[in-house]
Amino acid sequence: MDSESHQLHIFFFPLMIPGHMIPMIDMAKLFAIRGCKSTLIAIPHDEPTILKSIAKPKDLGFNIDVVTVTLPLTEVGLPEDCDNLNRLTTDEMRKQFMRAIMMLDRQLELLIEKLAPDCLISDMFLPWTIELAAKCGIPRLIFHGTSAFSIAGTECVRLYEPHKKVLCDSEPFVIPNFPGEITLSRMQLPDFFREETEITKFYNEVKESEKTSFGVVINSFYELEPAYADHYRTFLGRQSWFIGPLSLCNKEADDKAHRGNQASIDQHECLKWLNSKQPNSVVYICFGSMANFKAAQLHEIAVGLEASGQQFIWVVKKDLDVEEGKEEWLPDGYESRIQNKGLIIRGWAPQVLILDHEAIGGFVTHCGWNSTLEAVTAGVPMVTWPVAAEQFYNEKFVTGVLKIGVSIGVKKWVRLFGDSVKSERVEEAVKRVLVGEEAEEMRRRAKAISEMARGAVEEGGSSWSDLGALLQELRVQRLGHNKKIGFMT
Ligand code: UDP
Repeated sequence: MDSESHQLHIFFFPLMIPGHMIPMIDMAKLFAIRGCKSTLIAIPHDEPTILKSIAKPKDLGFNIDVVTVTLPLTEVGLPEDCDNLNRLTTDEMRKQFMRAIMMLDRQLELLIEKLAPDCLISDMFLPWTIELAAKCGIPRLIFHGTSAFSIAGTECVRLYEPHKKVLCDSEPFVIPNFPGEITLSRMQLPDFFREETEITKFYNEVKESEKTSFGVVINSFYELEPAYADHYRTFLGRQSWFIGPLSLCNKEADDKAHRGNQASIDQHECLKWLNSKQPNSVVYICFGSMANFKAAQLHEIAVGLEASGQQFIWVVKKDLDVEEGKEEWLPDGYESRIQNKGLIIRGWAPQVLILDHEAIGGFVTHCGWNSTLEAVTAGVPMVTWPVAAEQFYNEKFVTGVLKIGVSIGVKKWVRLFGDSVKSERVEEAVKRVLVGEEAEEMRRRAKAISEMARGAVEEGGSSWSDLGALLQELRVQRLGHNKKIGFMT
């Protein structure tokens, strides 16, 4: 077998949080479906979740597997069960966790030596993998898990520092050298942009590693953001491949239901509930895997949803700071009043299964990129309620560029617990996204973009072709590497 036809072997190394792991698993599946051997690197805690997600492609004969590495948690002073970033409660714990991940370098090197992959695709927060990949003679691709709009937007803010030229936190600034006159305020930037900390240093390292990586794979599609894709490639000069939406590799209901954690509702029960509803008549509310709200904010959401008179599915995290079994955020008699009208899922929801159902007419989201793109893909307009990370950029993209969302109006970036929003604003936004002419117009636009998303991943579509081009590029790289070391294929 020559090097051209020999199966490419790719290592996928995600960060251990759902919002980063889920799209990386989808990506590994996609590469396997396109003829590669995909190996996911994971810690033992995540292995069962990954195995469940890849069971079907494995059964179908695709070459996909998972290998485990052990996080030295006790060595950095963390308890053994702190094996996922969303289980860490303080900055110090997060810092130690990242240290433990860096200590995986030797284990990863041994795996590369043993299994001889042709390329390493690793999370943006693992910049140290670039040196390791170079040492092992393979290219490293970086995966940010967000859009070109956000990656390029944050880079223009980092480079040109418009936030340092305003007089106060709430004064808007336009992102310099960035298409579309996009405005933000200092309050909407991550805390480490507002004040230099150790995280700022680490973040700069992450961004600099983009330049020395072989390239960037993006969970987006060209037609969604052509101006920003071009800007990223030409103005910022990053070699990048747009290969999404990755969630579309989950075709059947079972695949969608088994994405990420174990769902807290039976998939058939969930579908039965949705099947009993009219098209576009239900709003879905979920804030991803990290953002959390205090009981008082949940109470406001509950009241607002009921007052809107609309039907809803609301995902509430289980790990609230309330005593087990005491749900003080729930108004008295709430669940009996909303019977048939509202469904509360406590824990984890099969999100893509829900969003793809025709009954869903709107999505109240924290604007994590996965959730945003999943809504785009399903053709569902959004109420944008950003909390942290790059979510304020995603909000701008949805409301200002795509024009398929209305903002709930939060103004301030906070690491975990969202800004407080009163029930009246929840009521108004839910009605706006679900009923009336404005909602119809947004839905029409969202459905058209959804068609483009599906077209992009079909054979001959832009994402399909971009992935093909990337695989070809990796084959060329392998050929060059083999020649260099005098290896005859
Ligand atoms: N998700 C899910 N069920 C939940 C919560 C989240 O399936 O109850 C999935 C969601 O579909 C998305 C990911 O978890 O793929 C969350 O990623 P996102 O970027 O939206 O937000 P993050 O969790 O990183 O803040």
